[in-house]
Amino acid sequence: MIINFWGNLKELLRPPFRGQQRVAYELTRQASVKDIIEALGVPHTEVGRLVVAGREISFAAPGADDDTLDVYPLSPPVDVTTPTLLRPEPLPGITFAVDMNVGKLATLLRMAGFDTLYRNDISDPDLVAVAVREKRILLSKDTDLLKRKGVAFGYLVREIHPEKQLAEIVHLFGIREQFKPLSRCLRCNALLLPVEKRQILDRLEPLTQKYYQLFQRCPCCDRIYWPGTHRDTMLLMLTRCGT
Ligand SMILES: [Zn+2]
Repeated sequence: MIINFWGNLKELLRPPFRGQQRVAYELTRQASVKDIIEALGVPHTEVGRLVVAGREISFAAPGADDDTLDVYPLSPPVDVTTPTLLRPEPLPGITFAVDMNVGKLATLLRMAGFDTLYRNDISDPDLVAVAVREKRILLSKDTDLLKRKGVAFGYLVREIHPEKQLAEIVHLFGIREQFKPLSRCLRCNALLLPVEKRQILDRLEPLTQKYYQLFQRCPCCDRIYWPGTHRDTMLLMLTRCGT
């Protein structure tokens, strides 16, 4: 079977195929195209379209010796809320589960207001299980994690720098318009609630007491947020990432 990997997918192929667009694959057993693609190194989460003889096929289609399969990458903006042939059960919305290897990205996603599950003490199977159960998009730098059974929506983060990773995700899913900056606790992901200044006065530094009137509180960890000096830096960074 001949398989063409388009766009950046060829960089994910395992050696000795890495970088090749065209791979001649010898079928030794009956296998779905999903299994074949993943055996060659490409997590199915990175695939946007599969085409044989001008027709789109699903991941479950069996590989056939005489076929030429074209494998196309995800094409931004990816709408996870609409059913497709490859992913017939869409997600109800944009929420994320973030692997430890991109932990700073989790903070930036929360900063932008996205519901983002992140724990630094969770095993790979548990992370996958919670992502699937809570219908979250799994973000990772680990190709093996994204190949785990049950994962339907995920993405292999390519960028190294956290701000660029955020820009990568925002661009891929087309979610710039969904930013709600400073609405979520950076530490525990909960939505912040307004709190009256007089209720927390004794917890504020004198200058904060003097210059700020609007405060929010995390209902989980009780941390207090206000539009302090970091706000402009954060908003500037989010603006950069969204363009
Ligand atoms: Zn909190």
